[in-house]
Amino acid sequence: MLKKNKSILVNARYLEKEITKRIIDLNNNQTNDRLLGIGYTRIIRVHNIEQDYIMQYYTMGIIGLIVIIGVYIVLYLYLCVKTMLNFDVKFTYKNMMLLLSIGLVLTIAYFSGNLLNSISVIIPFNFVIGIAFVEINESNNKYTDMILGFKTYTQGKETLLKQLEKEDKQNIIININPLIVSNYYNKEEYVKEFNIQKYNIPDGFGIVLASKIKNGSIAKQIPGVELMEDICKLSSKKEFGVYLYGAKKEVIQKAKENLEKKYHVSIVGMIDGYVKNDIALKDILKSKPDVLFVALGSPKQEEFIINNKEKLKDIKIIMPVGGSFDVISGYVKRAPKFFIKLHLEWLYRMLKEPKRIKQNMGIIRFLWLVIFKNNWYNENSEGANNDKNN
Ligand code: UDP
Repeated sequence: MLKKNKSILVNARYLEKEITKRIIDLNNNQTNDRLLGIGYTRIIRVHNIEQDYIMQYYTMGIIGLIVIIGVYIVLYLYLCVKTMLNFDVKFTYKNMMLLLSIGLVLTIAYFSGNLLNSISVIIPFNFVIGIAFVEINESNNKYTDMILGFKTYTQGKETLLKQLEKEDKQNIIININPLIVSNYYNKEEYVKEFNIQKYNIPDGFGIVLASKIKNGSIAKQIPGVELMEDICKLSSKKEFGVYLYGAKKEVIQKAKENLEKKYHVSIVGMIDGYVKNDIALKDILKSKPDVLFVALGSPKQEEFIINNKEKLKDIKIIMPVGGSFDVISGYVKRAPKFFIKLHLEWLYRMLKEPKRIKQNMGIIRFLWLVIFKNNWYNENSEGANNDKNN
C-alpha cells in the first residue's frame, strides 16, 4: 500500500476500501465474503468505511445489501411511482415533504456515510417511511373536504355528473373559490347553508392548493363554467328544462342561442340580472325549470339562491355561475389555454379587467386565511361529510 501514489493514499475512503479488500483476500473465502460480507466472520468491526452502501456491501455482502438497504430503496421507489401514478390526489405538501426527506437521507447516506448504520438515524427514518407509506397508500375515499370551514366536493367532475344524473331532489351547487371564501368567511349562516349541500365544487385552483397544503383529498379543480356546460349536456340527455337568470339582456340572449345550438338543450326561460329579484323569482317559478343557473356575481347570486331555496325546491339543480353567461355568449373570452393550464386564469381576468382588482383582493384575503387560520379550519373539519351514501 505504501508504495502507491501518495495522492491516492490521502483519500481515506480509498484506503478503507483497499484495507477491507485485503482482509477479504486474506480471509480466502471469496464466495461467502461477496454474498454475506465480512461482518459475519469478523464479529467486531475492522474499521469503518465512511460511505453508506459501500460499507454495507463489504460488511454484509450482496445479500445484506439487498435485504437491509435494498428494502429502503425499493420502498422509496414504490412510493415515488405510486405518487406519480396518482399525481392529482397524492401531490400534497405533506407527501412531497415525506418523499423529499426520505430521498435526501438515502442520497446523503451515499456521500457522507454512517447514516444507514446509525440506530439514531434509522429509527426516526423508519417512522418517516412508515408515515409516507400510510399516507400514499391510503385510498382517496373522502367525498368532501373542509376548506376554511367550507365543505367542498373532492371526487372530480365525471363522478359528480354521474351522481347528479341519479339525483332527483334539489341540489344546490356552490362554486367554492377564493372569492366566495373571502366573501362569506364571516357569514356563518350562509356557510352553514352551503355546507348542507353535497356538491359544492372546488371552482378555484386556490381551493385545490389549500386542500393539498392540509393533505386534503381534492383531486382536481372543477371550473364552474365547465360544469355548467356539462350540466347542459346532461339536461339535453335527460330532457331537463333549463332557466338562465342573470347578466345583461343581449348577453343572456346570445348565451341561450349558443347553448341551444351546442347542446340541443331546452331553455324554458330566461331573465336578465338587472330586474328586481322578486320579478325574476316569479318568472322562474312560472317556467318550472329542472335546472337553474344564476349569474349575478358573488355574493348576490348565492344570497338569491339561499334566500329562496324553499320556493325553488322543485328545481333539481341550482347553480350560481358568476360570469359564465358572458363567456358562453362570447362577450368575454376565457383566458388562453396557456393561462388555464398554469391555473392563472384569475391573473388573466385581473389584467384584462382592471376593475376586478377589487375582487381579487379576495384572493389575497383567502391566502391570508389559509396561511394564518390553518388551525381554525382543521379544528372545524368535523362538518365534513365523508359518508359516501350521504
Ligand atoms: N350581474 C347581474 N346583475 C347584477 C350584477 C352583475 O346580472 O346586478 C351579472 C354581470 O352582468 C355578469 C355577472 O353577473 O354577467 C357577474 O360576473 P362577474 O364576473 O362579476 O362574477 P364572478 O365570476 O366574479 O362571480
